[in-house]
Amino acid sequence: MSGQIDNLPPLRDVIARHGLRAKKALGQNFLLDLNLTARIARQAGPLEGHDVVEVGPGPGGLTRALLAEGARQVIAVEKDPRCLPALAEIAGRYPGRLKVVEGNALEADLPSMVRPPARIIANLPYNVATPLLAGWLLAEPWPAWFSSMTLMFQREVAERICAAPGSKSYGRLSVLSQWRCEAAIAFEVSPKAFTPPPKVTSAVVVLYPRENPLPCTADALQRVTQAAFGQRRKMLRQSLKPIGGAPLLEKAGIEPERRAETLDIAEFVALANALKS
Ligand code: SAM
Repeated sequence: MSGQIDNLPPLRDVIARHGLRAKKALGQNFLLDLNLTARIARQAGPLEGHDVVEVGPGPGGLTRALLAEGARQVIAVEKDPRCLPALAEIAGRYPGRLKVVEGNALEADLPSMVRPPARIIANLPYNVATPLLAGWLLAEPWPAWFSSMTLMFQREVAERICAAPGSKSYGRLSVLSQWRCEAAIAFEVSPKAFTPPPKVTSAVVVLYPRENPLPCTADALQRVTQAAFGQRRKMLRQSLKPIGGAPLLEKAGIEPERRAETLDIAEFVALANALKS
């Protein structure tokens, strides 16, 4: 358990010594089990020879696993300055391999901080998890600056990311994620694994960027998915009225009586291209 792989103190002691009482506003639910953090670190493949971007290292449980698993360099962006002394101790144990950046990951220029190949691996703060993912999915240029993303979400969000057409969870996030990445849930994590425990079960999702996503612009794809899923129970000829309605559907070769949740990624891409033409 904690503290044995790297001769650093157990995380419970680190949290107590630095007074890191979890703040809800920062989405702080810490992982203290280094076996679990090692499992997350290994999920997308080997870390040797890779830079790793971690958002929200907190007291450093996952950071320690990333370093112990052989990441060439970890770039860890943390908003809470109270965590910096604990992270400095980890940096001391792994000289030159941990760069801590204090700030808001939503505003950080992450691509400029890494040397490829790079992976993103994080137990995300739930309050900003979806905007962070959307930013990475819509990165330009594509193929992206990262070769994989291993991310912890609330299970319900993880299911939306990976959902297939026709399922209840299928929506805008599924289309954007699967347009540009192959996405799958790796495993679920019980609330008991966190300190303090969140209200819901979590899940680790692994996303691999596609080299050649079906060609369309992110902007057009966002517009069609927004209109279609904004009124997901309506037929598309109705929900898509503000952006082109039946003529748009005809151009894309899609029957106007269908509903958003029945369309696969290729059909949404056809709609996005019809919107542009
Ligand atoms: N990685 C640690 C772990 O697994 O135990 C902590 C994970 S905790 C769910 C989320 C972390 O993200 C917290 O340390 C929090 O302070 C940090 N955080 C919250 N919002 C952030 C933001 N906008 N940018 C960077 N870090 C943020």
